[in-house]
Amino acid sequence: MRMRPRSIRARDTLVAAVIAALVFGATAAGVDIAVRAEVRADHLRQTQVDARRVSGAVRDGSLEGAIPDLTRGRILAQVVEPGGRVTNATAAASGRPPVSRLWPSSNLRVRDFTECHGSWPDRECFVVEAIRVSTAADSVVVYASERLPSYLVNGLLEAVLAAGVLLLAGTVASITWRVVGRTLGPVEAIRAQLAEISATDLSRRVPEPPGEDEIAQLARTANATLDRLERAVGRQRQFASDASHELRSPLAGLRANLEDATAHPEDNDLREVIRSALHDTDRLESIVTDLLLLARIGTGGTAVQEPIDLSELAAAEIRRRASAREIATEFAPATMIRGVRMQLVRLLGNLLDNADRYADSSITVEVAGEDGLALLTVTDDGVGIAPADRERVFERFTRLDSARSRAAGGTGLGLAIAREIARAHGGTLRVEDHPSGARFALRLPLVPPGREKGRPKPDSPS
Ligand code: ADP
Repeated sequence: MRMRPRSIRARDTLVAAVIAALVFGATAAGVDIAVRAEVRADHLRQTQVDARRVSGAVRDGSLEGAIPDLTRGRILAQVVEPGGRVTNATAAASGRPPVSRLWPSSNLRVRDFTECHGSWPDRECFVVEAIRVSTAADSVVVYASERLPSYLVNGLLEAVLAAGVLLLAGTVASITWRVVGRTLGPVEAIRAQLAEISATDLSRRVPEPPGEDEIAQLARTANATLDRLERAVGRQRQFASDASHELRSPLAGLRANLEDATAHPEDNDLREVIRSALHDTDRLESIVTDLLLLARIGTGGTAVQEPIDLSELAAAEIRRRASAREIATEFAPATMIRGVRMQLVRLLGNLLDNADRYADSSITVEVAGEDGLALLTVTDDGVGIAPADRERVFERFTRLDSARSRAAGGTGLGLAIAREIARAHGGTLRVEDHPSGARFALRLPLVPPGREKGRPKPDSPS
């Protein structure tokens, strides 16, 4: 059976009630003990005074007949013989059997104790002082007794205290229930709203309570997360729609050509149709390959990072390419970084492809080390990129007007891929100011000398 209540509100209330019951219960027990001790001590003082007064009178023989009552019947005093006969008594105690059967011995002549008679509800208890007047065998005993108040005998005191404890614990529980309810109200509102927000309605936000407390911060964090989620879903949707759009154009061209060739074989040169179909297929293939690559970069995997000299890698890549334009280079020696060679070659290739495409006459590639970073720049002397477009060009399928007018368009994914690779290597890729043409700057963390042989990072990009 589940003993712990499910809700925080019920749990806190239960804990507060139990703690209150324990604390007030302990206090009530203390009060009970103190009241009993005080009343008994007070009664005992009175009975002792009276018993001494009477035993003195017995001893000096001045007591005759009834014992004078100075307490208006509150204290019952009796003088009892060894046989149990009451010889003298106060008016209130005469005619009653001896208050007690306890007979003090000659070596312990004075005794005080509490004695009770009868059963509930007629039970009564007395605080008794018994004094054996002398050590003689036939000495009489003087008893002085006072009845304890009924609330100490019939349990009324404990009942009242227990009721007080229950009342206080109940009050604490009810206050806790209300306070916790008020505190958790906004949390429930946030939960209910979050439950309603589905992937199709990410525009809704949870209510933000005023103030700076934990719940207000929770609401703000939840809303910030929803903001990011909404933007990410938006980007994802945009990307899916852009990707289908990009794939649809070559597919439509391919289909139109093939349908035309099938419908009018006599009007079409079959070789030309196949060549055009192959061209469209190539384009489709490169878009799909780029999309796959984009999806894979940075997701971790099997690709192993190795120490790479960025200057050497750039020099080798430039040597390998058959560029139509002259490429000026300036390489600082020993610019060691850690990375996935294939990906870095791809990044540099994309920058050089673009530079080749947009440069008027010359391209410059430089590699240097600065502030713990390796800096690789690819600069051309073409139309350049307006400051307003310098972030946009890294978005997927972005093509500026300058590119559309050029026949040899790429997939529109080249810079997106290049930036993803830079990020996956802990670096940055940006367009920077340059007096003429475009300048792309790649920054990657330099590996300190002597640390080149470090183990591959577990989250190394694929
Ligand atoms: P694409 O496959 O179209 O080259 P990229 O992602 O490589 O796609 O580039 C995106 C766009 O950025 C290009 O279409 C072009 O408009 C612009 N761009 C890229 N490199 C340069 C450059 N060196 N000079 C001018 N514009 C550039």
